[in-house]
Amino acid sequence: MSESYTGDRLSIPVAVFHGAQTGPRMFVTAAVHGDELNGVAACRELIQSLDPQRLRGTILIAPLVNILGVQLHSRYLPDRRDLNRAFPGSPTGSLAARIARVVLDEIVVASDLGVDLHTAANRRTNVPQVRIDTADPQTLRLAEAFGAPYILSAATRPGSLREVAADRGVPVLTFEGGEALRFDTDAIQVATEGILRLLHHLQMTDAAPEPPHDPPVVMHDSRWIRAERGGILDLQVGPGDQVRVGQTLWATTDPFGHERSAVDSPDDGVVIGATTLPLVSPGDAVLHVGLVGERPPHEDDPSEEEDQVEDDHPA
Ligand SMILES: [Zn+2]
Repeated sequence: MSESYTGDRLSIPVAVFHGAQTGPRMFVTAAVHGDELNGVAACRELIQSLDPQRLRGTILIAPLVNILGVQLHSRYLPDRRDLNRAFPGSPTGSLAARIARVVLDEIVVASDLGVDLHTAANRRTNVPQVRIDTADPQTLRLAEAFGAPYILSAATRPGSLREVAADRGVPVLTFEGGEALRFDTDAIQVATEGILRLLHHLQMTDAAPEPPHDPPVVMHDSRWIRAERGGILDLQVGPGDQVRVGQTLWATTDPFGHERSAVDSPDDGVVIGATTLPLVSPGDAVLHVGLVGERPPHEDDPSEEEDQVEDDHPA
């Protein structure tokens, strides 16, 4: 798509599977944040397993969308911009804007729907989850067919791939699972099998992995629980655990083990994300708790497309 100062042509690798029969067009994108690698592994498995002869429709798979960030092991582009805040982009704008526009035109709006694969940011981990607008019944059905353990209703962030795709009528499931710069076997399997189930749900393939034993838990909201006092962390719960109001979530101690503070859960919910760094300062986000049950009416939704705390440059 462009030329670097080394003279190399920069291109974003895309595998295109044109089925022998007609059907929907679906895209899969990974590494929009260049240090989020579980989706890269899921794309690799998909590319190896798909057979165009047995496919109805078309699948576009882009394992390394932010290829410059991947080369640097970085969430961001070399110009320090976040590609997932740069959509819809522009052919005459910044590097991020130009890449965003190519991805939007060539992959996103060329599709009927898509899946965008992410992980938690540096020093955090997420349980496998799909983030959508659960108020949209069509997208909710797609997320249920995907079969990740959790479906989280998340407002879109300005400039994100999911938001701009939704504006153009292309439903997108944002998958989150695992950590940055690591492969997490469970998250990779949930992502890969979820996409294969989605293809089967859309009648693009004839077979799919079994649906999960338990249907996905739908969460209409979530909140990050932050530390009021710093210290060395003693987490009492972990990713995937159910928590109850008043249950102790963590304590912090001084270096000699004397307790400084204990933090109780303000909500009933499920831990869907957590810090992996056991040293906390006041204000640090320690646990992300998904709230099960109905959303209270007329309440603004503070949740984010991405974990807001993972952003070095919050909006
Ligand atoms: Zn991400």
